[in-house]
Amino acid sequence: MSRRDNQHVRCGRCRMHASLCLCPVIPRVETRTRLLLVMHRYEERKPTNTGRLAALCLSGSTIVVRGHAGKPSAPLPVAPDTQPVLLFPAEDAGPIAPFAVSERPVTLIVPDGTWRQASKVRARVPGLRDVPCVTLPRGRPSTYALRVDAHETGLGTMEAIARAFGILEGDRGGEVQRQLEWVFRVMVERTLWARGALGAGAVTGGIPAGVRRGDPGGLRGARSIADDLNRTCAPVCERRDRRAP
Ligand SMILES: [Zn+2]
Repeated sequence: MSRRDNQHVRCGRCRMHASLCLCPVIPRVETRTRLLLVMHRYEERKPTNTGRLAALCLSGSTIVVRGHAGKPSAPLPVAPDTQPVLLFPAEDAGPIAPFAVSERPVTLIVPDGTWRQASKVRARVPGLRDVPCVTLPRGRPSTYALRVDAHETGLGTMEAIARAFGILEGDRGGEVQRQLEWVFRVMVERTLWARGALGAGAVTGGIPAGVRRGDPGGLRGARSIADDLNRTCAPVCERRDRRAP
């Protein structure tokens, strides 16, 4: 069954297979920092897109879809009373930490797509050239273990957002980060379980009662997990000998 045929059995909100829908465990996290996710249109329907999942968790979030052929990107809807910063390792990027004490709340702009797509965002979206670029401090490797080799410094988009909020939210940061990372882990592990790569006992939060692997219809197993997960990589850490593919 192709991915397109499979759409009807996916949750329209979290995009997981309906039997593994994450919506009951998605928290509503109130934050001072706002998330503005700039998603490439190819990401929109991918079940493995995690930027979207982060936006579902964060109350002050907006998703903008770009990359439509022949249609220039519109200026981003950044609230005028906020400090926009772009999470991307451009040549002139600085550390994110100083913005944690920003007088105005931060709007964290996060490109979501392949490295190639993300690297075009600054040039193609009006107004972004003047927005400061920030990077995360180097931390532990991605828990999206099978995709790390795509970009040495790459994290899943949601992991990067979690770490950024962990810093920007100050005293509350640790708790916000923990909540996002928990949902991320549930999503990854349910997906791995569905593909036969993880036992039910190892899935954070468990598998919903009564759900069996391969049920009902069309959980994909044939494609390699790495193939799929590599597509939603947001390379947002400090620069380290990275190359565009
Ligand atoms: Zn759902």
